[in-house]
Amino acid sequence: MTATTDPVIRLEGLRKSFGSLEVLKGIDLELHRGEVLSVIGPSGSGKSTLIRCLNLMEEPTAGTFAFQGRPVSLKFRAKAPAIGAGELRRRVGMVFQHFNLFPHLSVLENITKGPRIVLGESREDAEAHAMQLLSEVGLADKAAAYPAHLSGGQKQRVAIARALALRPEVMLFDEPTSALDPELVGEVLAVVRRLAQDGMTMVLVTHEMGFAADVASRVIFMENGAIAEQGSPEEILRAPKSERLKGFLSRFH
Ligand code: ADP
Ligand code: MG
Repeated sequence: MTATTDPVIRLEGLRKSFGSLEVLKGIDLELHRGEVLSVIGPSGSGKSTLIRCLNLMEEPTAGTFAFQGRPVSLKFRAKAPAIGAGELRRRVGMVFQHFNLFPHLSVLENITKGPRIVLGESREDAEAHAMQLLSEVGLADKAAAYPAHLSGGQKQRVAIARALALRPEVMLFDEPTSALDPELVGEVLAVVRRLAQDGMTMVLVTHEMGFAADVASRVIFMENGAIAEQGSPEEILRAPKSERLKGFLSRFH
């Protein structure tokens, strides 16, 4: 069991129910270092629930979940070799559809808060890293601004910088551009694309099929709480097998 060959994330038979509603019905999934996995599927198919399980924002109700070969525990802290929810959330970053920035904090404070509290970084180190991340997302000049004064695309780029500030090993994106005006989508996708090129391991729920085809190493099509079809972007997006996937994709042409 070595860290280099274990998948970063491995799910076996993962299930999630909300009361009597079973939303994930046995998901098997391996995510390897440097892979970009795109998750597509109709609304309500369980895409968000699946990626929220990957950093335990939702607790799976059954199945196994391993992170770099270590069993994931639902407890905040766990005894080695298990990994607890606290450590998992630090190592698996998340970007949401609606940005979720802290409105009362400046851009710089939004980014430095996590590293200062969670990683115990000094203000100086956290600010230097935040400024580096802000220049990488093209927003160095917005450090002192408040979220209310930013466009949606700028807010989402700050949210990405904030997630990266915790130096995650995996980044999760849940429809990061679907709340944006069309003219702002490109600037956010450019940042996601750069991360992919830099080798970040990512899971991306998206309706941007062209973008998924471009950046993904693998695409999974979810339907009704299960993985209905998976393969390379070519196989899934250009040569879909099932009628359901064909029907789903036809809505995007
Ligand atoms: P998707 O992201 O593919 O649109 P979701 O994972 O958000 O799908 O939702 C899958 C199903 O789970 C939907 O039927 C949704 O209503 C239900 N669901 C999601 N979150 C909750 C929750 N917190 N409580 C109850 N039902 C939920
Ligand atoms: Mg969703």
